[in-house]
Amino acid sequence: MSFNALGLAPELLRAVSEEGYEHPTPIQQETIPLALAGRDLVGSAQTGTGKTAAFLLPILQRLAAERRPHTLRALILVPTRELAEQVLQSSRAYGRHLSVTATAIYGGVGMEPQTRALSRGVDIVVATPGRLLDHMERGHLDYTQLEVLVLDEADRMLDMGFAPDVRRILAALPEERQTMLFSATISVEVDALARQALSGH
Ligand code: AMP
Repeated sequence: MSFNALGLAPELLRAVSEEGYEHPTPIQQETIPLALAGRDLVGSAQTGTGKTAAFLLPILQRLAAERRPHTLRALILVPTRELAEQVLQSSRAYGRHLSVTATAIYGGVGMEPQTRALSRGVDIVVATPGRLLDHMERGHLDYTQLEVLVLDEADRMLDMGFAPDVRRILAALPEERQTMLFSATISVEVDALARQALSGH
């Protein structure tokens, strides 16, 4: 199967080919058409399977199809700052022929540059839960136009004790949205989080 068969825009196909990808991985083959159709989904995928492109390509396509600059429309929650940076770099690589903007929000660094980036307005926020809540408490996030939520490496987020933070973030998001959850393992706890994140809309 080729990337051309997945329904992706030419700008994204070009970027993917420039990354040297020849064929979509199994998780990409399964996820991309569903995600492009706006469906909610739970993906069981380890790191290294290509799951980042599986959710980023459909998000980039959705945001580029109808530009609304300086408006937060996609939130990607990740367990660590390293993963936040990786997802941010991937979104820039896959989105290099589009004008979608993204920023990363994580702890252990100063709040101020992040606050400035958020106040300028950005399409995609990639964040660890704790620092995102710090910004939310200061009124730095406007979720009224949010369309897509991704919970990436959900099992690691729960292992790191982020469940209460993630639940508080979920409570602040519009109910009508697309939600995608990825986890290496689907434990009872991950399943409960998936039910909560994917229900009510
Ligand atoms: P991930 O599982 O998203 O962390 O991706 C793991 C690695 O696979 C990254 O280095 C990606 O650049 C690479 N990758 C993602 N999709 C593909 C693909 N379709 N073909 C080849 N490499 C890929």
